[in-house]
Amino acid sequence: MAAAIHCSFCGKTKKESVLIISGPNAHICDKCIAQANTILSEQNRSIKTKDSFKLYKPQELKAYLDQYVIGQNDAKKVLSVAVYNHYKRLEQNDDEPEVTIEKSNILMVGETGTGKTYLARTLAKVIDVPFCIADATVLTEAGYVGEDVETILTRLLQASDYNVEAAQKGIVYIDEIDKIARKGDNPSITRDVSGEGVQQGLLKLLEGTIVNVPPQGGRKHPDQKMIAINTENILFICGGAFEGMDRIIQRRIATRPLGFNSKIQENSKLVKTENPLKYVSSLDIKSFGLIPELVGRLPIVTFLDPLNHDSLKKILVEPKNSIVKQYKKLLKMEKVELEFEVEALDFIVDKAMSFKLGARGLRSICETILTDAMFDLPSESKPNSKFLITKEYAVTQFEKNSQLDTLAA
Ligand code: ADP
Repeated sequence: MAAAIHCSFCGKTKKESVLIISGPNAHICDKCIAQANTILSEQNRSIKTKDSFKLYKPQELKAYLDQYVIGQNDAKKVLSVAVYNHYKRLEQNDDEPEVTIEKSNILMVGETGTGKTYLARTLAKVIDVPFCIADATVLTEAGYVGEDVETILTRLLQASDYNVEAAQKGIVYIDEIDKIARKGDNPSITRDVSGEGVQQGLLKLLEGTIVNVPPQGGRKHPDQKMIAINTENILFICGGAFEGMDRIIQRRIATRPLGFNSKIQENSKLVKTENPLKYVSSLDIKSFGLIPELVGRLPIVTFLDPLNHDSLKKILVEPKNSIVKQYKKLLKMEKVELEFEVEALDFIVDKAMSFKLGARGLRSICETILTDAMFDLPSESKPNSKFLITKEYAVTQFEKNSQLDTLAA
């Protein structure tokens, strides 16, 4: 009688397993396959960690950003250099131990919906590092209701699938950093001193320290085992609209010369015709109400331009992943060719401009206009048909379905 087949690894017989795969001289059961698979993926993960980012040169980084982000050339350039240097710093060898390249976190100033988060996210994607977004307004000093500063890192851990090494080289985008500015220096800020407490909390995080992070976040799981994360190589990019910053900059420029040979008068005139944020400096951030220590941890300051009609229209159609391309792709799956009249695009842009949400408004406006079409076409369209969004159609649909007008009010 032939011997019963059993797993060459654990010895289980065919009867004891769901499945046994046989090779010429060996067999393996389903349980051992699953176990081997886990070992393999852990191995792959640790291989990835060893070389967990792709170091592109600044020009390459900018070229990549250009494919996705419209305009914002200054910010793209500054970010590309900063990100390149940051990751080069991680590769620094020690033949010059007396020179250590210090970490340089970044601050972006610009209206809402102009691409701050999008730039940070796109950069993280190209270098292939974990990325997370935190909102400064929900952070509170330890002991108060709200999120502790450490929970920012919980998100980064989650984004890296709890791979601590990868998380320690990630990028964190902290949004609305302007909202935790100290009250007093800036009358438009209504927050009280607790904003300053959060700024203090962020200080050590930005500078580089070892933080004990609750892997599940929050305080709901008091028994969870903390994970130690070193923030020394995490790049923090902070962003905010800094409303009223233009006046701070103009005031500064009116009283101090800009460059070595500049004349105050000419500078004041210049600032009136251009985007004043172009001249933003650490001094202005301090006047706005961020504590000097925090400003010191954000040595790279850049700005974003407000988006005009022309840029918003480009955002609709040009980027690799543009909104129009996305809708076209969706309907192509239904074998419908979607087209937009130029005037319809102009209408969408005009609406977005009136809502003052930057590019953020574009998607919801498109969604409002296209909902009926996306509801009906999958059932009713004939294969290989065309669907043209005219201005008339856009206006009618928008007026019929829109709840956005209440938003703008
Ligand atoms: P914020 O400046 O408030 O952080 P976001 O980066 O979140 O703005 O922008 C919202 C969305 O608008 C992005 O996800 C992106 O799709 C689009 N967007 C904003 N600015 C641009 C831009 N300059 N180029 C292309 N898309 C943009």
